[in-house]
Amino acid sequence: MYRTNSCGELRAANQGQTVTLAGWVQKVRALGAMAFIDLRDRYGITQIVVDENSPRELVELAEKLGREFVLQVEGTVRERSSKNPKMPTGDIEILASKITVLNSSQTPPFTIEENSDGGDELRMHYRYLDLRRAPLQRNMILRHKLAQSVRRYLDAQNFLEIETPYLIKSTPEGARDFIVPSRMNPGQFYALPQSPQTFKQLLMVSGYDRYFQIVRCFRDEDLRADRQPEFTQIDCEMAFVERDDVLNTFEGMARAMFSEVLGKELDAKPFPHMSYDDAMKYYGCDKPDIRFGMRIAEFSADLKGSGFPPFDGAEYVGAICAPGAAVYTRKQLDELTNWVKRPQIGATGLIYARVEADGTLKSSVDKFFDQEMLQKWAAATEAKAGDLILVIAGTKKMAQNALCQLRLEVGEQLGLRTKGEFAPLWVVDFPLVEWDEESGRYFAMHHPFTSPKLDDMNRFMTEEPRDVKANAYDFVVNGVEVGGGSIRIHDSEVQSRMFEVLGFSKEEAEEQFGFLLGAFKYGAPPHGGIAFGMDRFCAIFGGDDSIRDYIAFPKNNSGRDMMIDSPSVVADEQLKELALKIDQ
Ligand code: ASP
Repeated sequence: MYRTNSCGELRAANQGQTVTLAGWVQKVRALGAMAFIDLRDRYGITQIVVDENSPRELVELAEKLGREFVLQVEGTVRERSSKNPKMPTGDIEILASKITVLNSSQTPPFTIEENSDGGDELRMHYRYLDLRRAPLQRNMILRHKLAQSVRRYLDAQNFLEIETPYLIKSTPEGARDFIVPSRMNPGQFYALPQSPQTFKQLLMVSGYDRYFQIVRCFRDEDLRADRQPEFTQIDCEMAFVERDDVLNTFEGMARAMFSEVLGKELDAKPFPHMSYDDAMKYYGCDKPDIRFGMRIAEFSADLKGSGFPPFDGAEYVGAICAPGAAVYTRKQLDELTNWVKRPQIGATGLIYARVEADGTLKSSVDKFFDQEMLQKWAAATEAKAGDLILVIAGTKKMAQNALCQLRLEVGEQLGLRTKGEFAPLWVVDFPLVEWDEESGRYFAMHHPFTSPKLDDMNRFMTEEPRDVKANAYDFVVNGVEVGGGSIRIHDSEVQSRMFEVLGFSKEEAEEQFGFLLGAFKYGAPPHGGIAFGMDRFCAIFGGDDSIRDYIAFPKNNSGRDMMIDSPSVVADEQLKELALKIDQ
């Protein structure tokens, strides 16, 4: 037996017991006749002591130990003379009677501690060492618990976990595919699934009316803190359901996860619903953080006044009120102005007005607007004494996005985005399709299998689909889109019409999705579903913006695995087998 106990479990009550521990050396302090070794495993750290009561050779051995050596230690649990209240095992130590070096270690390239001295790149290169650190181990444990909680809940609700293939044909989720050449079919390629969308729908046709899978998805798109080329979804589908059946089922799942993993009971009962139109109007985006107010007020013609060039030509003028932010200094306001002028946001400027203690307003554009007009701004944004009104003008798309971002930034600065507080939200009634000026065609806002809302079905089948609403929904927590889904089309004629709207010829639709159109002709039940971003759920639960440290072996921002050095070139022989030639 390698060990009788873990390095995290012994307490004062275990005094006098003879134990064997195994783990890694976190730290050694050899002090002549004495030595202290901090021994670590994933359960914690226990202090090992070698002193005059230990065999002599242990003192010499201790001097030769280095960080990350792997040891097996036998000894007796005894009370420490100087206790460490910060460590769960801080009341005891193990007086060593035998130490076996199970393996030595080179000096690690960074410290394996709560806060490491290693930079990002170095830690990604030695991910297996970084994963030894407690914060990463906590994240992996959190992820495990979350997955178990999902499985428990869905199993209890009669969902079946069914796997779907990875080597498939393109499933359009709006990203580029990763493709895999087929050796047995030269010149032909598989696509890795952007999601199991079509398969889960086929499972509904096959009669498995409640499906789920914790599944890897692959999307070749530019990476951000909350995006990886391969990521994990909690993918679900149900037959014989309407929208609210799906929302209720997964509201239940979210509650169970928060409760079991974080011990948090969510107050909102039921979770609030917000239409896409309202989300855009009041928050400037389709995933509002509703932990705080600061809703956007659009300035109508009478609030714009005239003679002020940025307003006169603007398609849209809107404002938010930052509570208590009248104290912002000129420097802070200049910084915010530069912040909204960054290319990612693209505002031409930021106009602001402070509400003074006596209720009068002092603005950055006093030359153009009198008190009467400024008071109207205050009324529209519900600004009170001490508040700061921030106004942005421009195209509707830019200005709404800028106000959305500005609201989040200022909300953060004012401490309104409280950590540990969770505000779930269903955003519903998305547009079905979006018109893209550049390519002169419609794109599916969700994906091409999403059903129009029943009320809009006739219009969809016969008219321009510009304003048709989709029976689609997103699950948003604290401004992060954690999940999304829809009630699906289950009728082959409606699905064919959808492909037509999206600019597929009959032949193209048949070639790419003939299997689905065919399946819909054999008694497809009404169905709908949703998929949650597992990595994002973990990051939210862990209170992080980035999903990277919730994935054991992630890619960096250029899509590289730094540890195994991938992607990499392959041998000519392999290319030949695949009938491929590299063109550069
Ligand atoms: N397949 C969709 C996605 O990955 C989710 C769904 O509609 O169920 O976003």
